[in-house]
Amino acid sequence: MSGTYLGMPSFPEAARDAVRDVTLRGNLRRATHTIRDKRAGAVAELDDWGRLREAGKRIKDHTLRHLDRYLVQVEEAVTAAGGTVHWAADAAEANAIVTRLVQETGESEVVKVKSMATQETGLNEALEAHGIRAYETDLAELIVQLGKDRPSHLLVPAIHRNRGEIRDIFRSEMSEWGRPAPEGLTDTPAELAEAARLHLREKFLRARVGISGANFMVAETGTLVVVESEGNGRMCLTLPETLISVVGIEKVIPTWRDLEVFLQLLPRSSTAERMNPYTTMWTGTTDGDGPRAFHLVLLDNGRTDTLADEVGRQALRCIRCSACLNVCPVYERAGGHAYGSVYPGPIGAILSPQLRGTASAIDASLPYASSLCGACYDVCPVAIDIPEVLVHLREKVADQGGKGHRLERAAMRAATWLLDHPAALTAGERLASKTRKLHPERLPGPGARQWTNSRDLPDLPAEPFRDWWKKNRA
Ligand code: SF4
Repeated sequence: MSGTYLGMPSFPEAARDAVRDVTLRGNLRRATHTIRDKRAGAVAELDDWGRLREAGKRIKDHTLRHLDRYLVQVEEAVTAAGGTVHWAADAAEANAIVTRLVQETGESEVVKVKSMATQETGLNEALEAHGIRAYETDLAELIVQLGKDRPSHLLVPAIHRNRGEIRDIFRSEMSEWGRPAPEGLTDTPAELAEAARLHLREKFLRARVGISGANFMVAETGTLVVVESEGNGRMCLTLPETLISVVGIEKVIPTWRDLEVFLQLLPRSSTAERMNPYTTMWTGTTDGDGPRAFHLVLLDNGRTDTLADEVGRQALRCIRCSACLNVCPVYERAGGHAYGSVYPGPIGAILSPQLRGTASAIDASLPYASSLCGACYDVCPVAIDIPEVLVHLREKVADQGGKGHRLERAAMRAATWLLDHPAALTAGERLASKTRKLHPERLPGPGARQWTNSRDLPDLPAEPFRDWWKKNRA
């Protein structure tokens, strides 16, 4: 993944400021609760939601099992339809390919549809380094870009901002990037939307290169699909002369029949809509209609490694609906930035450490950024068992060692020995009961203190259970 987040501290440290920020917590709480309630209503309308969910899971699992075959099919179909396919093993390769393709057009500006894959690779920064300016056109992404911020939600990247903050960003930053905000701009949604529309319209009409991701790629025809709510995506996908799409290899599905399932699962799970307002599909190029040149960059960037993990690979089923973020009690308090990745929330906690490995402090801490309550699994439209993957990844992190885990392992070894030696266990229990008044309320030592900072130590009984049993029941 991109180096944008490299060097971030572990999750608990990164989340510390966020949990104390009352405005941020208020913004997050309001937004996530509204979306989650609406989603529950939209899902309850369908009698066959459970069957749809199972179908989505099975289609994705089948595709992942035969990914090699379906990717070759995509390549052949896209090429036959007049497009060009490029393969990128990692973020650097993907960025280099896109930069070269833009340079070949002679342009120094591009318009972008919201795309997780290009955020993952840090494309905007890579283009900037070569003198190419990338304009985000999704409203929330625009707010993030103008505010020199980072996205904190999959679907609503500026979820942590309220209307007043957005007005201030528009007023102070829009002129740096193009058409300034209208005089006397207020924080009413209609005025903010109009300011963004005017600002972006100028860019759509000027741009000759568009960059997108894709929600799905249909292997049988090589068709790419982008679903969105604002229409900005359609402008980016149809107006420019050159279109470059950077897409993770897991986005492929075999047939149009399969697409039918996901076009029902995705909108209800993400925006609580029965169908999403704009669904744009394109297959290669067509004379007299849409871009003259189309390039598809297929991105691996850790996905093949993730696929090799029998438990963890289910994370690749994700359709980025963000339902798991909106129900997560940890995300609601910590916000998206603390996850140190473009993938925040429960899916980020299992996807980022698999795509990037668990060597860094932030990636080793992500599998612990959960209370394992299971709400994320309940709402996931493709039934990713996020708690199962979290526990699996915790095991991996514990196995790789580190100070905290060394202490934990030593404690487990001591407990194993004690349970194997009943006489020693009994003596220990008696001693602990006799000295219980002297026990501290918090454990000493950095790791142990952290554990008891938020938990009470259990009260010990006046006598061990076995002694009590012998006296009263034997
Ligand atoms: S893990 Fe499931 S709920 Fe979360 S974003 Fe992905 S598809 Fe949606």
